[in-house]
Amino acid sequence: MTPAVTPPPQLSTAQRTLLLELARTLLPEGGRLPGASPASVARAEDFVREISGGALRGLGLMTRLLDGAALLRTGRRFPRLSPARKTALVERWQHDPVLRWPLAALSFLFKMTHFDDPGVYQRLGCQYVKGGPATPARWLGRVRRGAELAANEQLECDVVVIGTGAGGAVVGKELAEQGLAVLFVEEGEHHRRDAFRGSAVEAHRKFYRDKAGVVSLGNTVMPVLMGRLVGGSTAINTGTCFRTPDRVLERWCEGLASDALAPAQMQRHFERVEQTLEVAPAPERLLGGAARVVARGCDRLGWHHFALRRNAPACDGQGVCDFGCPSEARRSMDVSYLPAALGRGALMVTGLRATRILSEGGRAVGLEARGQDGRLFQVRARAVVLAGGAVPTPALLLEQGLCNGSGQVGRNLSLHPGTLMSARFDERLDSYNAIQQGQGCDQFQHQGILLLGANAPISIAANLFALTGRALMDVMDAYDQIASFGVMIQDETRGRVRRLGGRTTLSYWLEPTDVARLHAGMVRIAEIFHAAGAREMYPLLARLPRISGRQGIDALRALRVGAGDLRLTSFHPLGTCRMGRDPKRSVVDLDHQAHELPGLFIVDGSTVPGPPGVNPQLTIMAMATRAAEGIGRLLA
Ligand SMILES: Cc1cc2nc3c(=O)[nH]c(=O)nc-3n(C[C@H](O)[C@H](O)[C@H](O)COP(=O)(O)OP(=O)(O)OC[C@H]3O[C@@H](n4cnc5c(N)ncnc54)[C@H](O)[C@@H]3O)c2cc1C
Repeated sequence: MTPAVTPPPQLSTAQRTLLLELARTLLPEGGRLPGASPASVARAEDFVREISGGALRGLGLMTRLLDGAALLRTGRRFPRLSPARKTALVERWQHDPVLRWPLAALSFLFKMTHFDDPGVYQRLGCQYVKGGPATPARWLGRVRRGAELAANEQLECDVVVIGTGAGGAVVGKELAEQGLAVLFVEEGEHHRRDAFRGSAVEAHRKFYRDKAGVVSLGNTVMPVLMGRLVGGSTAINTGTCFRTPDRVLERWCEGLASDALAPAQMQRHFERVEQTLEVAPAPERLLGGAARVVARGCDRLGWHHFALRRNAPACDGQGVCDFGCPSEARRSMDVSYLPAALGRGALMVTGLRATRILSEGGRAVGLEARGQDGRLFQVRARAVVLAGGAVPTPALLLEQGLCNGSGQVGRNLSLHPGTLMSARFDERLDSYNAIQQGQGCDQFQHQGILLLGANAPISIAANLFALTGRALMDVMDAYDQIASFGVMIQDETRGRVRRLGGRTTLSYWLEPTDVARLHAGMVRIAEIFHAAGAREMYPLLARLPRISGRQGIDALRALRVGAGDLRLTSFHPLGTCRMGRDPKRSVVDLDHQAHELPGLFIVDGSTVPGPPGVNPQLTIMAMATRAAEGIGRLLA
């Protein structure tokens, strides 16, 4: 008998019609670019269906909610309204305290799936698929998929490392070079280079944790982006490399009552990482048009700007770093540390999620892990390194009720929230054919405000504007004249990772000081663009989506901005397994070993003592290099 196949969940025809009408109102036909069509709605539906059946039901509910609101307000269903009435309603919903959230979610979805289309790229003179060579299989022989493990296969090693991102890959490679038998267990898959094709939709689906659907909830809803693939978030990151500023390290040392992380102690670790990653300033020819206008504006204002240091020696400026580098130019962990570790005898199992830390006699002795087919495996080891990242790591411990006598697991979450501004210039900038983040301005770093390049590929560009309808399409038609620049803050807010009802949740209530910092950063960017000769500027604020001239900047400065007005994204969750000497107030000791479970080491963003105020990958890697020395000594 053939087993019954459950059909994939679908939207009804009525829901699709409603979605199409909403999409057409949000994205009407442009002068140069096409408007929303049944094909863009189908792409949106596919994307949400892949997240889950529940998400698709949520999409149906949101459309029904908006349709109901239309009926209440006008006495007619949304599809039956005239185009002008539809536009007026959408504009009204943007300022409604409740309806703005479903509208924002739908608009985010359509803006992403509609423009992720070869036809759109062609009309803007940009290549859609960024082909790359398939990775030669040099070290792949040492990588196994969880599905290939034999039933009840027992794995043994000196050190098992959970996660292959900035923390895990570095610690694993350093320990393998010390002669220890290292096994990496990675929940995500290894993707060969030709899988990185520059598509936003594809990247979010395949490479991001929960398909980029992790959000923090509080007085604002903020996507918190993380990778879930071999190389962790480094495989989809922008490649910016900052050392932790000395003043930050000194502050951490004060808090730890130790000079363990002092600048003088950390210097050799930073040097080792930078050498391995071939870190160097981004070459000017790849910075692109946005960096040109930012430099011009900063020069006119007398503000310091610079080409960012990056780990991409072979960069060819394809401009899709966050979707995975198609040309293997960036030395993310899957290109640098992991091949080196495997070359020194390490092994890796992918598609295998660590679910429990095993302990015997009060010591960590290995882990239990589940394959994608549901089978459970055990790994026995002399030491366990947990390096799943600042959200999955505390989630795993909380799920098991482990190492949390202090109550600190999951607390102290910092996120480095960021937003951006865009501006239209009279010159052609083609910012999408350049490094995504190549330029920085540190003039206000002492105030916890860092301004950084934010070139966006065409597929996600529409989400840089708090505009919809005709106004949005006008800007998108001229996207080759648009520059964007970002603001990221060293946050004072602390959030929390929890496990509730079998799910991981993030709460984060943005403090007024942090709102003020983000607002100030936006004003600074507007000043740079204005000084550089921008024709029009686009704050990512529904209440002030478009400004121009000095008057516009004054209006932006005078605006009373609340947390809920800001469209924020976090790329840097940190701090959720606090380091410290006192087991009552911290989770790991100064050597990264869990106070409550000897043999368990936590080496990832969760042990970074606070937000460094700069992009954190080098901080995590330098700390991991240091941690590996300590673990090696303990196992010798
Ligand atoms: C889009 C994006 C752009 C960024 N740009 C920059 C930048 O330009 N410069 C910079 O400094 N930083 C950047 N970052 C941040 C930086 O990449 C991260 O801070 C860093 O990689 C975090 O390292 P980690 O080891 O804590 O976690 P990750 O690098 O996220 O690695 C964790 C790994 O553990 C795996 N894992 C988790 N749980 C389990 C489990 N239970 N079992 C098995 N495996 C598990 C995950 O799948 C993942 O692969 C960016 C991040 C993102 C998402």
